[in-house]
Amino acid sequence: MTPTHRHQQPSTRTARMHQPYDPWQAADTLGLTIRYAPLRDCLGCWVPPDRLIVLATRLTHVQERDTLAHEVEHALKHDTDCRYAGAAGRLWSRRQEARADEAAARKLIPTVDLEDALNWATSREEAAHELGVTEHMLRVRLLIRRRDLEWLDTSRTDG
Ligand SMILES: [Zn+2]
Repeated sequence: MTPTHRHQQPSTRTARMHQPYDPWQAADTLGLTIRYAPLRDCLGCWVPPDRLIVLATRLTHVQERDTLAHEVEHALKHDTDCRYAGAAGRLWSRRQEARADEAAARKLIPTVDLEDALNWATSREEAAHELGVTEHMLRVRLLIRRRDLEWLDTSRTDG
């Protein structure tokens, strides 16, 4: 068994051969309805009974794609709407939010694209711009990457 060290980088920038994740297509496939409204407290929300995603108006394209990807993950996991929940509900709500963010980040930022961007970008802002995501989504993806690398170092698994 060879210990896993740093990811070997190709000598040239990796061409993107795959289609980028399209959350609009994913929402369509799931039969979800998307509406726009001037939301005050959030960028988007998931309304389970109506299988409805509401997105804030005036988002940039990048914000809208990230937000929709996040809300689609709530739909995939049959997450609840915790707006009116008590303390236990708020804790569960935070878990749901983290899970939706992480699942969305994995889909929005494929590993090969992430490693490519990290290879040359001089700042997180630049990497996020190259990857077409918000800095928040990149931060979430980087946390996953760090966890994955630690996991690879300490276990043998085919995942
Ligand atoms: Zn959410």
